[in-house]
Amino acid sequence: MKNLKTRMDPARVRSLIEAGRLFHSRGWVPATAGNFSFRVDRRRFAITVSGCHKGELGARDLMPVDVQGRALERGRKSSAETLLHCQLYRRFPQVNAVLHTHSPASTILSRRCDNVRLCGYELLKILEGIATHDVEIQVPVFDNDQDLARLSGVVDACMNTGGARHGYLIRGHGLYAWGRTMAEARHRIEALEFMFECEVSAGYERREHP
Ligand SMILES: [Zn+2]
Repeated sequence: MKNLKTRMDPARVRSLIEAGRLFHSRGWVPATAGNFSFRVDRRRFAITVSGCHKGELGARDLMPVDVQGRALERGRKSSAETLLHCQLYRRFPQVNAVLHTHSPASTILSRRCDNVRLCGYELLKILEGIATHDVEIQVPVFDNDQDLARLSGVVDACMNTGGARHGYLIRGHGLYAWGRTMAEARHRIEALEFMFECEVSAGYERREHP
């Protein structure tokens, strides 16, 4: 346990900090919103501590937790949404990074519908297993819930039926996406946020509910 801090790969710490700066510059993590993490090993990951500003992150703002969500550093509290990260790390051994944003576009869209349908975008090819723009994906919207154990169960149940393959939204709240590397997770967030912004600009609500 005492070596856990030193096992936080500095390159991964840097890439997480850079993701925070980028997302803040885009207006996707206002104030202390959002949370980011990367896997340390099979049973542990590093996650942003509760209440830190994501545009001004330092290595001190990360702490280790286990995949059950238990803090591995005394006296520190991890993000309130740690259990949502746990669900992804437990379910997908290949996932090494999880990112969560609170952008205006994801907030607006998630308040308008239960599934965001995206089709015809070249950027869909950023997402796993997609090689053409000529496809439609659905990003599910889950009702917000301050009971994170219950919410992570809802996410897990959706994934059991093949849903939320590329990410998911929480209503009035934000977006979760993940990847095998921090760069892959960041690219997915960037691609989804771009398409959400396009949908908001194009009046998604009117097309969905004529
Ligand atoms: Zn959040």
